[in-house]
Amino acid sequence: MTESNHHHEKCRELFERLSEYLDRELDEETCSEIEAHIDRCEPCKVCMKTLKRTVDVCRNLKQEQVPPDFSRHLRELIGQLAEGGKRG
Ligand SMILES: [Zn+2]
Repeated sequence: MTESNHHHEKCRELFERLSEYLDRELDEETCSEIEAHIDRCEPCKVCMKTLKRTVDVCRNLKQEQVPPDFSRHLRELIGQLAEGGKRG
């Protein structure tokens, strides 16, 4: 009985905003929207954990702003995770 009330297209949309979310660039409403989705979506939950860890590591290394390169790296990672969560 696996009910999937969401489409992976929605996940991809969300993934694209995750880096902004992690950088706290989004408004509160969008943040809670993302959080609500992640709460119900296992692939997104796993993705979020990985990203958060990556961001934490990066922030610990440098207590400055995240370099532009990092955002690109994050997008690549998101892309990989999005591909991995897709089937068929
Ligand atoms: Zn999702």
